[in-house]
Amino acid sequence: MQKLINELEEAQIGTILVEEPMSNHTTWKIGGPADLFIEPTDKYKLAHSLKVIKKYQVPWIVIGKGSNLLVRDQGIRGVVIKLSEGFSHISFHDNEVTVGAGYSFIRLAVMAGKEGLTGLEFAGGIPGTVGGAIYMNAGAHGSDVSRILKDAEVLLENGDLVKYKPEELEFAYRTSLFQTRKAIVIEATFQLTHGDRKEIAKQMATHKDRRRLTQPLTMPCAGSVFRNPPGDHAGRLIESAGLKGLKVGGAQVSEKHANFIVNCGNATAQDVLTLIEQVKQTIQERFHVTLVPEVLVLGEG
Ligand SMILES: Cc1cc2nc3c(=O)[nH]c(=O)nc-3n(C[C@H](O)[C@H](O)[C@H](O)COP(=O)(O)OP(=O)(O)OC[C@H]3O[C@@H](n4cnc5c(N)ncnc54)[C@H](O)[C@@H]3O)c2cc1C
Repeated sequence: MQKLINELEEAQIGTILVEEPMSNHTTWKIGGPADLFIEPTDKYKLAHSLKVIKKYQVPWIVIGKGSNLLVRDQGIRGVVIKLSEGFSHISFHDNEVTVGAGYSFIRLAVMAGKEGLTGLEFAGGIPGTVGGAIYMNAGAHGSDVSRILKDAEVLLENGDLVKYKPEELEFAYRTSLFQTRKAIVIEATFQLTHGDRKEIAKQMATHKDRRRLTQPLTMPCAGSVFRNPPGDHAGRLIESAGLKGLKVGGAQVSEKHANFIVNCGNATAQDVLTLIEQVKQTIQERFHVTLVPEVLVLGEG
């Protein structure tokens, strides 16, 4: 590991942190340390970092804002690559917007609205990055990434930079090609439609109000914990089973939204995992439905 660190330092790839607590990089504010945590300053430094990491055969993972991640308490062995400032450019051309993968998805929605472009209103409450949104095919209010993506620039494990069209990305409910083929999204272009600024702002405000009313946004969480089973809502099932408020250690099924688990202050990843298992088991027994987590679990227990 020390040789890898030295080589990354020599190449001045950007921020390099050893034993960085992942609780600093997840919206749940949970997670043990990553052996190595890096924030490359641009795509060339990123490509070089990946080359060096591969040379030393160290495992790696890329993250955005950690808004869909549960990192286990013993942390992550290997390198965590975070795309942040160096991947936060944005430019508009007619009805299209090209944006770095580290750009905030919420901010993108706001900026598009200000430009009078419609299509991204659904993203106004999804607190991740553009890269994370593509990986997850993030969506809400009847829309998702797959409907507006024009193309995505991607760094493959072998170091090639390629552009993908949406039809190549195997988009479906909260999933994309990248969940089975490891790669790093570095930039995306979205195709929007010219619309009315006031109407767009109104629509986004309505979505925001609804979220404030129905979601525990003042507490650390990771959005919906479970995928919705076909034809139903995980939250409805969990609420019907009387599980709102159920607590394990510092983790609690939200009183406000049954498909959210909140960190009451001192939750461990193990608390959350135990609570997830209890919820799954109850829903299986009560309704014969197998809930599948939407949040991604990383690292060692
Ligand atoms: C309050 C709240 C509300 C939410 N509401 C919604 C909602 O309405 N709809 C919805 O879909 N989600 C929602 N989420 C979940 C979450 O915001 C989304 O899944 C989001 O797209 C994750 O983006 P991220 O940057 O945080 O990714 P992370 O959580 O950091 O990572 C998620 C996955 O994406 C991968 N990834 C991240 N960046 C890249 C990249 N550049 N290239 C390749 N892979 C990458 C990671 O490896 C990881 O596997 C909500 C979360 C919260 C906390």
